[in-house]
Amino acid sequence: MPGVSNARHLGQVWKRATAGEYRGVTRTAYTQPVKTVVLIGLLVLAAPVPTPAQFWKKLPSAKPGEWRHRHFEKPQTLKAYRAAQPVRPTEKRTVIYLLPALTRPTYEPDRIEHLAELMRAYFGRTVRVLKPTPLPRHAYDRKRRRFSVRACLPFLKRTLPADGIFLLAVTDRDIRLPHSRFTYGWGSMKHRIGICSTWRVDWGKTPEIQRKRIYGLALHECTHMLSVPHCTERQCLMNGAMDVREADRRPLLLCWECRDKLCWNLALDPLKRYDALEAAWRAAGVPTVAARARLAKAVTGNK
Ligand SMILES: [Zn+2]
Ligand SMILES: [Zn+2]
Repeated sequence: MPGVSNARHLGQVWKRATAGEYRGVTRTAYTQPVKTVVLIGLLVLAAPVPTPAQFWKKLPSAKPGEWRHRHFEKPQTLKAYRAAQPVRPTEKRTVIYLLPALTRPTYEPDRIEHLAELMRAYFGRTVRVLKPTPLPRHAYDRKRRRFSVRACLPFLKRTLPADGIFLLAVTDRDIRLPHSRFTYGWGSMKHRIGICSTWRVDWGKTPEIQRKRIYGLALHECTHMLSVPHCTERQCLMNGAMDVREADRRPLLLCWECRDKLCWNLALDPLKRYDALEAAWRAAGVPTVAARARLAKAVTGNK
């Protein structure tokens, strides 16, 4: 095929072959890409399951500019977490609430529903989506042109229903904390209130990266509300992040120790939780994290 590269040629063959239109194409040209795909699949299936230490890698030393370089946070063991009387569901507080505080429709309108589904899988609890309500106008800081989280606090506390374990608000406006120019999100263990903003993460890159950023940020803040601090030991969803680039580097699943904190707190079976997470991440349009959840289950089951 003069003027057409081999890769492009194979691509065309594959396209025609999968559409059942391979008349005129030689049998070898059709079967070769099929064989390659099958071979890669077999290699993936035959790959040994990594050990927990290989899968949940230790964090390297912090580099200048990274969260751990700026903030000194002590590691917390599972035993210390249990002894610290973390926020937990009670007889009366059994539901997790999600408040869409959006001022305009997202271009993927089902994102809130996908996030609610992810939260159901992640926490194994009932998650209810409240009526969409924008943040109160008085909380807008005109000088800095963003909402003050502190000024939103009374509104968010009022919005948390009596049967709520905690509430997470998702806003599309820029937000800030006292003594900071802006923040991506914040979760209060004391008030059981959290907020995250899509303002600085909902742009650029691919839709899958945007979804990963938004859902990862929301789950990170929710986990804080169950008193789980930043993870300073292993690569984990609970790693602190100074900016989106650092947040993009963290996996969207918890390391084994943070997962065990959550599973103890909410009385969850980790293996069933991974099944639910795999399905929810796949439905949310993030197959890479779904595949990691499946592998995490194999690593956990192989211990
Ligand atoms: Zn955090
Ligand atoms: Zn962790």
